[in-house]
Amino acid sequence: MSLLDGGVAELAAAVRSRQVSAAEVLEEALARIEEAETELHCFNTVMLEAARAQAEAVDGAIAAGRDPGQLAGVPVALKDNMCTRGTPTTCSSKILQNWVPPYDGTVVRRLAEAGAVAVGKTNLDEFAMGSSTENSAFGPTRNPWDLGRVPGGSSGGSAAAVAAGLVPLSFGSDTGGSIRQPASFCGVVGVKPTYGLVSRYGLVAFASSLDQIGSFGATVADAALALEVAAGHDPLDSTSLDLPAPRLVEALGEGVEGLRVGVVDDFLAEVAPSCSLAAVAAAEALAAAGASCENVSIPEMLLGLPAYYIIAPAEASSNLARYDGVRYGLRVDGPDVETMNARTRAAGFGAEVRRRIMIGTYALSAGYYDAYYGQAQRARTILIRAFDAAYERFDVLVAPSTPSSAFAFGAKTEDPIEMYMSDLCTIPSNLSGHPAVSVPFALDSDGLPVGVQVLAPALGEPVMLRVAAALEAVAPPGVRGPVRPAASSSAVATGGGGGGRAGEGGGEVAGG
Ligand code: GLN
Repeated sequence: MSLLDGGVAELAAAVRSRQVSAAEVLEEALARIEEAETELHCFNTVMLEAARAQAEAVDGAIAAGRDPGQLAGVPVALKDNMCTRGTPTTCSSKILQNWVPPYDGTVVRRLAEAGAVAVGKTNLDEFAMGSSTENSAFGPTRNPWDLGRVPGGSSGGSAAAVAAGLVPLSFGSDTGGSIRQPASFCGVVGVKPTYGLVSRYGLVAFASSLDQIGSFGATVADAALALEVAAGHDPLDSTSLDLPAPRLVEALGEGVEGLRVGVVDDFLAEVAPSCSLAAVAAAEALAAAGASCENVSIPEMLLGLPAYYIIAPAEASSNLARYDGVRYGLRVDGPDVETMNARTRAAGFGAEVRRRIMIGTYALSAGYYDAYYGQAQRARTILIRAFDAAYERFDVLVAPSTPSSAFAFGAKTEDPIEMYMSDLCTIPSNLSGHPAVSVPFALDSDGLPVGVQVLAPALGEPVMLRVAAALEAVAPPGVRGPVRPAASSSAVATGGGGGGRAGEGGGEVAGG
């Protein structure tokens, strides 16, 4: 077995002890990317030269007797809304197609300082608005489990890259579910940390009161280690919590004995049976491992989706005002400044981004502000209070990650509301600022992965990830990646129920 398919800590240890060089590890990852990329399109940019230079620097440090850090030689993929100095950062938008940031985001810098090797920028829904990567201006990413299906979104490229084993780690952003939903669709672990735990300096803003950077890994331990490296106070982000980075990996094996687990009832009737069954099975598994599990009704959870689809577009309409043809990226000239602005934005933004800007502008406009934005903020407060009450009784909550498993290309592109419904179970934790993680826990009848969410109160990452690790330990075999996209079209022994993975045929990829 290749070191790339084992744990991240083991891979870094092998590089640190010179069992393998960072350069060799990188070349293997690049070969895998080269082989899979035509089919999958996980990446907008593969950072060949920069990655080779970074790997060489890691090997050089080791040769000189220095320790490059916890992620020595580990290839990582970065969502293409995270600023990378000298490498385009497009947000999968035509408006930023040729924009090259002059600086690295804090997470990008911290990863490099820990010895990780950034291999590329992953595809997303334009400006992280969407749930399938079909809103990318550069064409969608395919799900390695079934090439006719979406990988989820908006961090679909990051999820698919880990699911296909191209890289052992990746990072994404989660504003309403964009890490957890693709993690669930792709059979990988995806963590959305507490608001403020990970610096957003250098993350292109979508909705600033909700955006968080988080990690993807094949296992809870990998995603937790990545988060440890990325987390911690950053004076460059005014929303960053002034706390040391939490220790997450060391407690993972402590089990769930005595923990109080609430199973959120309100989603169970709203999602596909495969998703509600997975959540119920997860609760049973935790009970068998010594936790006390109880169903809990938190009807306020259902306020999340409508509140989010006012608040997020409102903030987006303001954040995206900066793309004016003057300061960043694309410019389409006109006889006067106003026409130039309008032409630039009409040519540069895709349909969904324009829709969000219009909804947000409307919701914030005089005369409508209180009825829409004000009302959504009140709903948000009510939801937060309901969470607070639940966390007086429970250490963590368990819920489905998504209303369905991965859907076919084109299945939801005609009806925006249908697409928005994908975020039903993930949005509440963004509105509350709480952490949540999706862990692969089942396969549906098509052999597709189904994730389960563990939710925790603010800064509850240690207990949340412990519960996630306990679930991972008892999840049926075959529920998680990596899967080989090429091999997945024929019979693949999944071990778990639900039969083999589909992969041939499937839907046509609807071009972006
Ligand atoms: N799918 C949600 C949206 O389109 C969430 C996106 C995200 O988390 N970035 O807004």
